[in-house]
Amino acid sequence: MAVDLHTHTTASDGSLSPSELVREAARAGVRVLAITDHDSTDGLAEALAEARRHPPLELVPGIELNTEADRFEIHILGYFIDWEVGWFQEVLRGFREERRGRVHRMAERLAALGIPIDPEEVFALVREGSAGRPHVAQVMVQHGYVGSVGEAFDRYLKHGGPAYVSYQKLPPEEAIALIRRAGGVPVLAHPGFIDQDDLIPRLARAGLGGVECYYAAHTPAQIATFLRLTRELGLVATGGSDYHGPRVTPDGRVGTPRVPYEVYQTLLAAPRGA
Ligand SMILES: [Zn+2]
Ligand SMILES: [Zn+2]
Repeated sequence: MAVDLHTHTTASDGSLSPSELVREAARAGVRVLAITDHDSTDGLAEALAEARRHPPLELVPGIELNTEADRFEIHILGYFIDWEVGWFQEVLRGFREERRGRVHRMAERLAALGIPIDPEEVFALVREGSAGRPHVAQVMVQHGYVGSVGEAFDRYLKHGGPAYVSYQKLPPEEAIALIRRAGGVPVLAHPGFIDQDDLIPRLARAGLGGVECYYAAHTPAQIATFLRLTRELGLVATGGSDYHGPRVTPDGRVGTPRVPYEVYQTLLAAPRGA
């Protein structure tokens, strides 16, 4: 009985619609599927309706929030959130507008410097995460304005550069608090991408409920370390594919890596809310 607690749809940067993803999961024998779009729950209603047509598939409402601490991008997953409440939707809308707005403001500054770029081209490049300076830099390289991403940063996009636009960073502790306030269980996504030893204990003190241990890009040694930490800190060990659909993640597959069903049972029993 496969479990997949991390997937994306067209509600954020995935290439499958919520219904298509649910059907693909059902075909792959996934028993429990969580949809965790970036800063959006817009795919959940459609996915829940489709999931009812594929018993015994269970759908877990989720979210993935992008945060930043010490210049590291840290993603916090949330499960079993009361996603329909107004204040939570208001917060998500603010996050999405802030991120898109920053890309537009950078494009305006670049245009004033004689470097016109189309923000839509920037958004089209985004895979895992949200549009930011690296994507703007890539578009600048593609159009031959600069020779490399490094040059784009050095000459234009670095802190204090002529096209730099400041933005509001969401600390991971705040994302954890938001998910708790929305009645959910906050879980640190793909910690293998962040090479910071004290991060998990620090976030555990802030109310983190679990750590995504089973993840395709994690080495066996990393998985062992994360499993040990979750045991020591009393956190739930979760896992998922981070599948974005065949167009975005051609090597990925929903339900891969194999996550034990007990993971879902433990997550189900984890304390929710504040
Ligand atoms: Zn992520
Ligand atoms: Zn993700």
